[in-house]
Amino acid sequence: MVEELRDASGEIGPERHLRVAGHHVVVVGGGFGGLQAVLKLRRAPVVVTLVDRRNFHLFQPLTYQVATGALSPGEIAYPLRAVFKRDRNVRVLLAEVADFDLDARELHLRSVAPVPAPDRLGYDTLIVAGGSHYSYFGHEEWRMHAAEVKSLESALAVRGLLLAAFEAAEGEPNADARDAWLTFVVVGAGPTGVEMAGQIAELARDTLRRDFRTIDPRQARILLVEAADRVLTSFPPSLSAKAGRSLQRLGVTVLTGRSVIGIDAAGVTLAGRDGGEERIACRAVVWAAGVTASGLAGRLAELTGAERDRAGRVTVESDLTLPGHPEVFAIGDMVRVRDAGGEPVVLPGVAPVAMQQGRYVASVVRARQRGREHGAFRYRDKGNLATIGRAAAVADIKGVRLSGFLAWVTWLVVHLWYLIGFQNRLLVLIRWSFSFATHGRGARLITGTATTSEERDG
Ligand SMILES: Cc1cc2nc3c(=O)[nH]c(=O)nc-3n(C[C@H](O)[C@H](O)[C@H](O)COP(=O)(O)OP(=O)(O)OC[C@H]3O[C@@H](n4cnc5c(N)ncnc54)[C@H](O)[C@@H]3O)c2cc1C
Repeated sequence: MVEELRDASGEIGPERHLRVAGHHVVVVGGGFGGLQAVLKLRRAPVVVTLVDRRNFHLFQPLTYQVATGALSPGEIAYPLRAVFKRDRNVRVLLAEVADFDLDARELHLRSVAPVPAPDRLGYDTLIVAGGSHYSYFGHEEWRMHAAEVKSLESALAVRGLLLAAFEAAEGEPNADARDAWLTFVVVGAGPTGVEMAGQIAELARDTLRRDFRTIDPRQARILLVEAADRVLTSFPPSLSAKAGRSLQRLGVTVLTGRSVIGIDAAGVTLAGRDGGEERIACRAVVWAAGVTASGLAGRLAELTGAERDRAGRVTVESDLTLPGHPEVFAIGDMVRVRDAGGEPVVLPGVAPVAMQQGRYVASVVRARQRGREHGAFRYRDKGNLATIGRAAAVADIKGVRLSGFLAWVTWLVVHLWYLIGFQNRLLVLIRWSFSFATHGRGARLITGTATTSEERDG
């Protein structure tokens, strides 16, 4: 039923414009929300085009394991074309969405070099799931000194940064400079920050223990900085306390009640509640604090008059459509949703919210195709999980609070279950089993960012 995508003119020219026959659903973003929407539409009587600026789905909950050498990139990413290779009504388009023309029902696209993309893409129904990115609290200049682990590229950069710090310390004769190389600061003690700090501690205390001759990697200081008065504020206080103790056992120093007020190439400046400032000399900072919605949210808000909150999320109706545009849905990290009373509600910025919303919008599209009505979106909270390190995690599942080994096994099973692709599940299971038995991390490679002076000078 899918007709060839082709130019409106029938010719290949610079102004390329794609059209398809049949009800055309365009999904922007092959992350957690967009992927679920397309999966649920693959047997529907519609034509689906999935547009993403990456050619793969990324399992973001495990990027920090790539950043610490526990997993390789290919184990947590899966090509979008491979996911839909058997679904004749689904097409994947590698391109970046630059803008929307909601009146003409078209997207404006930008090419992702070196792959040319059509300029415009028409739709009958549009589902936008552009996600979010880390924000640096208005200090964009911090970005170059404090890496984050949201994308595969940035996770690999962090891996290089962490491993290079140990290499530099090994060759550093000056004690203060060596200490700075061996001081690692993680900003933000939400699940990602806690997981990241725990993994760096395991890398230093366990994996690298015997790898160096001059330094003892176990002397590394891992500092986890949090402005709130406890780690994992989305969990009940009792589980935060348990996570804090597990972090301490691993050798992480937790600095709560401290805000970051400066980051530069030589270190981090913190402010305490009493107004006192503290300077920490360090060369590797990982950013795991606030997020901001994709710029696509802001653009949709401008075009439709929908409200936006401080984190850039566009406010959608209770059926996840934009005001005045029942044919346009927005989902996932980039939205907040009006409840039955019309009040905007911010749901947690986690994968299950995006996935449930993706499945929901697909069922609305299917219902409309059959001429039926569909009820409002309702989020079913299945619980909250965070891992701290080897055999240590916390879980809050519908009021049942778990910690330690049982929570860790639950975390492992859930993450394996939701990884896309049987091969990836198997590979990650083997990797984790091997790492558990040997304390090893096979992917401890410094790649990409490291260049020799000869390479740099050409
Ligand atoms: C490090 C980290 C750890 C996390 N850990 C957990 C966890 O343990 N458990 C949990 O539930 N959640 C976790 N999350 C949150 C979870 O990953 C997000 O809530 C989820 O990814 C949101 O899904 P989404 O579909 O809204 O966006 P995403 O999954 O981010 O997908 C957005 C997609 O849109 C594409 N895109 C964006 N802009 C454009 C554009 N202009 N043109 C074309 N394509 C575009 C992107 O390439 C991407 O593929 C974590 C997040 C991070 C960063």
